[in-house]
This record gives sequence, structure tokens and C-alpha cells, in this order.
Amino acid sequence: MKRHIISSGVCLSTVIALAGGPVPTPPEVQTAVSQAAMTPDAALSRLKDGNARFVSNTAKRRDLPAKVMATASGQFPFAVVLGCMDSRSPIELVFDQGIGDVFGVRVAGNVVNDDELGSFEYAAKVGAKLIVVLGHTGCGAVKGAIDDVKLGNLTGLLAKIRPAVAEANCGNSKDDACVNRVAESNVRRAMREIRERSPYLKTYLDAGKVGLVGGIYDVATGKVTFLKD
Ligand SMILES: [Zn+2]
Repeated sequence: MKRHIISSGVCLSTVIALAGGPVPTPPEVQTAVSQAAMTPDAALSRLKDGNARFVSNTAKRRDLPAKVMATASGQFPFAVVLGCMDSRSPIELVFDQGIGDVFGVRVAGNVVNDDELGSFEYAAKVGAKLIVVLGHTGCGAVKGAIDDVKLGNLTGLLAKIRPAVAEANCGNSKDDACVNRVAESNVRRAMREIRERSPYLKTYLDAGKVGLVGGIYDVATGKVTFLKD
């Protein structure tokens, strides 16, 4: 039967579908039109829906090489995400996004610095509608900050997290709840810094053209919990 279909010139995806297998998702990519139509709320919903798919193991099947070709001439991402470098929290995977969908900025402890602010400003300039600061549970950088680790250039990075340690009143890096409290405080501080240290972004945020949200990714469940104001 299958040999007959192939000899009839039916494409492979049809053969798979007829055989009862999944049909590959056609390559949909962000365009100038889809990006312009996006709102900050819609961008957030899109990320929430993507994370729900990730958690339930129903992530979209993507033809990534086709998306590479479809985005070769330009990109129109709808969001920019600042996340930790932790290997367990890859941005596109945990939000089930494809090529050309989101700008990703990753650094240990998802701390804010001038280069990142410039990156967010660029993202806003070219049409991204949402800035997400994504911390995570069990963060090694947060633990290092709690322990006041000194190690080369890492010392300066961890110093950026120390105010969150003080704010969360945490002194024990073995206490998971305490570590996660610092992670949340660190995300909230990053959100404040983005608004306060970038007058350029503040105009977008105040006008409602761009949204700013924080979230915590749970490395044990895969779920992102967005923070309440
Ligand atoms: Zn981390």
C-alpha cells in the first residue's frame, strides 16, 4: 500500500499522515505584518501557551531548515527574553518557539548590564513587544551570590546579585526556598533596573508599546510561573 502511494507521486508527509503518523507543521515564521499586529499581552499569551505545550510534551513539530530559509532575509521577533545561562533553561525550548520568534539574551544569574540594555533597546526599536526577565529555581549563580563566592571575573557578576540576597534576607544556599526567594527578588530588581537605567525603554514601557514581565522557570517541572505585580 505504502509503496503504491509513493509510486503515485504523493509527498512523504502525506504518506506519513496516511500511515497514521504526525504531519509536519508547515514553516510559519514571524513577519513584519505579524509582528506589527502583536501586542504586549498577545506576546505574553504566546509565551504562556508555548510553555504549556513544552510542559505537556505537545511542542510544535517544526521544519527548522525551512524556517532557516524563510528567515534568511530578515527577522521580526515578538519578544526579547533575558534568561540565565543555565543549561536547563534554554529559552526557545521552554517557550516552544522557533527560529526568528524571540531574541534571547543569556548570562549567569540573568543580571542586567549596559550591553544587555542596549540589546533590549535594539529589540524594542525593531518591533519586539515584550521584555521578559526569566530567573529559575536552583540557580547556581544565585547560590554563589548567597555564598559570596570570589572567583575571577565571576566575582563582579555575583556582586550584581548580592542586593537581591540582602533583599530576600537569605543566608543559606542549601535552603531551596531561600535560594528561590533570592531568584525572584533578582528578577524583580532586574525589571526595575531595565526601567530605571534605560530612558529609551521607559518611553516604550510608559506608552504601553512594550511590556515588561518577570518569570521563574522551575527546573524540576519545566513550568514558567510569571510574577504578579
Ligand atoms: Zn541560573
